[in-house]
Amino acid sequence: MKNQDIFQRAQESIPGGVNSPVRAFKSVGGTPRFIAKANGAYIWDVEGTQYIDYLGSWGPAIVGHSHPEVVKAVQDAAVNGLSFGAPTEGEVILAEKICALLPSIEQVRLVSSGTEATMSAIRLARGATNRRKIIKFEGCYHGHSDSLLVKAGSGLLTFGNPSSSGVPQEFVSHTIVLEYNNLDAVQQAFNEVGNDIACVIVEPIAGNMNLIKPKAGFLEGLRELCTQHGALLIFDEVMTGFRAGPKGVQGLTGIKPDLTTLAKVIGGGMPVGAFGGRKDIMQHIAPMGAVYQAGTLSGNPVSVAAGLKTLEILNRPGFYEQLSATTATLVKGLKEKAAKHGVTFSADSVGGMFGIYFRSEVPTTFAEVQESDTKAFNVFFHAMLDEGVHLAPSAFEAGFVSACHNEEILTKTFDAADKAFAKVA
Ligand code: PLP
Repeated sequence: MKNQDIFQRAQESIPGGVNSPVRAFKSVGGTPRFIAKANGAYIWDVEGTQYIDYLGSWGPAIVGHSHPEVVKAVQDAAVNGLSFGAPTEGEVILAEKICALLPSIEQVRLVSSGTEATMSAIRLARGATNRRKIIKFEGCYHGHSDSLLVKAGSGLLTFGNPSSSGVPQEFVSHTIVLEYNNLDAVQQAFNEVGNDIACVIVEPIAGNMNLIKPKAGFLEGLRELCTQHGALLIFDEVMTGFRAGPKGVQGLTGIKPDLTTLAKVIGGGMPVGAFGGRKDIMQHIAPMGAVYQAGTLSGNPVSVAAGLKTLEILNRPGFYEQLSATTATLVKGLKEKAAKHGVTFSADSVGGMFGIYFRSEVPTTFAEVQESDTKAFNVFFHAMLDEGVHLAPSAFEAGFVSACHNEEILTKTFDAADKAFAKVA
């Protein structure tokens, strides 16, 4: 069976042939690989071709694909039933574990995706503050709920325009979109409408416009402004949670958000999301309070088992030291190969995630990210794929390393990159 044949067939029954748009290779062109199996740092497509995987299921696969302990936990849980719609002890253990690992979280609610987590956190922030407006940042992605699918307006306080058809203007009229890393803009928004701002939601290290780190003082400034104006600070750590470091970005910076959203790693590859934070805020959720949120599969026992085992593995001694060192070595090696071929290139990493940019400097804003040479990226992407390395199929996405990416795999990656950069040059 060929990838191309399945892709063609898929387009008959699934819009675009995929169940999430970026998988369709639209920005890089060509045929997506239909994956048949994965193990450790490798994936195999339906044609039997093996690839080193730096997509990691967009983040969850931090302990490596099909980790035997995670697979066993899932099998053991499945034998006892797939879903009950009634509470289980496993959910309580996972909630306790999240609260213990992230000190800003005193209570947490489990959901089934990152989108649900951020959507619910925003509703909670509005319900708890009795305010309407939210601030988000250009280039940060918080899932596909209506009020968060907003493109930046051009002016500082221009309220957003929907970035998807099907979202009425009125639905995003309370969403203020500002430039990432621009604290002055946030200050101005608070000066103008501060008493109606329910929350600021931010990817504390942005992983949805490639990898963009906060400038010194940016997150601290958000914390201060929120506290000063009675707004809630939401760290969307769906991607960075247990990925950027053992306690996410809040652990790296020491900044305490009021609410945090999580998903990806905490589900170990199964559908899980979570939102949590200060108990006085979380008490506004039904059945305690008046903010409604629910889910048929929330806290699903099989997903919870995968998440619990994954958290256990990544809390073993030395896990993050090794993961961070591997990712840093990857970035260093790629930069060296680019330099060898005279390709304009920069790269950055944190914990087990990395960004590669076909521009001379690591970017700090969405506008700078967009200045990257996407044509060069596309050539590089396909050359790497031909050499057996599967990267995220877009110049504007972060990459992910797992605990199974070892020296031998890095060497193979550098050999592939040597050839790929030669094609870009
Ligand atoms: N928030 C962030 C930071 C994300 O990276 C994502 C997904 O990539 C989401 C929210 C949405 O999560 P999901 O795709 O599980 O709905």
